[in-house]
Parts: sequence; C-alpha cells; structure tokens
Amino acid sequence: MKSLTNEQRTTLLESIRDVEDFPKKGIIFKDITTLLNNSSAYKLLMDHLKAKYEEYDLDFVAGIESRGFIFGATLANMLGVGFVPIRKKGKLPYTTIAEKYSLEYGVDEIEVHIDAFRGKEGSRVLLIDDLIATGGTAEAAVKLINQTNAKCVEACFLINLSFLEGVKKVESITNTYSVLDI
Ligand code: AMP
Repeated sequence: MKSLTNEQRTTLLESIRDVEDFPKKGIIFKDITTLLNNSSAYKLLMDHLKAKYEEYDLDFVAGIESRGFIFGATLANMLGVGFVPIRKKGKLPYTTIAEKYSLEYGVDEIEVHIDAFRGKEGSRVLLIDDLIATGGTAEAAVKLINQTNAKCVEACFLINLSFLEGVKKVESITNTYSVLDI
C-alpha cells in the first residue's frame, strides 16, 4: 500500500517505545527495537516503503549508521537494488569522502566510500534513516551523496520530530518523506 491508513499509522506508532531521559536527561528516545521485534509491524512498514519506492526507478538505497542500515538494507533488498552504508568517521575501510555537520556541542563527520554508487553516472539514490530531529545528520548525508556522481532523489524517515523542524533543512536540497510525524 502506497499510503497508510490512520489505523496502520497508529499500529506503527504504538510499536515504537518511548524511553525517557536516554541518552541524557530531557530526551525522549524513540526506540525502534520494539518495532523490529514485532514482525507484523516491521512487515507493514517495509511493505509500505516497497510499494511507495518501487515506482522511483532507484539505483541504490543509502542508510545512515546505524538504525538506517536496518531499514535501508531491508528495503534495498526488497527493491532489488544495492545498499550503501553512510558511516561515522573512521569506520569505512576503503577511500572515503566526508562531510561535517554541527551537533549541539561541537561537530561530527560522516563518510561514504568514494566508489559506493558505482555504475551509471547520476545514479538515483534514496536516503533512509529511522528518525529526523534537527536534520543535521540527514543534510550532511544528502550533500555527501550528491558530492559523488550520484543524486539523492529523496530522504525518507520513519519518524519526524516535527517540532524540531529538521525537515526544513533537508527539503531545500532534496525531497523528503516521513512515515510518522510526531
Ligand atoms: P539530527 O541530526 O538532529 O536530525 O539527529 C538524527 C539522528 O539522531 C538519527 O540518526 C537518529 O537516529 C538520532 N536521534 C536523534 N534524536 C533521537 C530521538 N529522540 N530518538 C531516537 N533517535 C534519535
């Protein structure tokens, strides 16, 4: 199903656990492990994403470390396209390109292998992560994809913490889609 009913959205929302004060006081952490170990909720989500994205003529799905790997690799396999991991600095073994982004305090950096989107020029890439908060990570990931010879055609999130307005940052550089807006 390309679009979800309100009932299906509620099923997904209820499968995600809120953990208060993790990793620090005042943060409500959206714990997706309870969705992953609920086979019907996980299947509902992935069937929805497959139905939506099979019309996009994608060449790759790229996932952001680490929860984006789970949804991204599953979706890539369902769509019959390759999966590309976007990782924190220093984790990928081959030659990489990197992009810095701001955190609340300081900066962080993500990387992708220089030849990850091999194949035709202008490969169509879907970026996926579990959650968008301030949007800094996703913005850096889109820039990273576009710095290679590939094109990020959309950034997809399971959860959008809409009060943080991170989507605004990302939608100036690519299309965005969130399954659940909170
Ligand atoms: P941001 O760059 O601020 O959009 O943060 C997004 C990244 O941080 C994603 O990879 C999320 O998995 C993680 N993240 C941020 N806030 C939360 C939260 N409340 N619950 C779970 N993960 C979060």
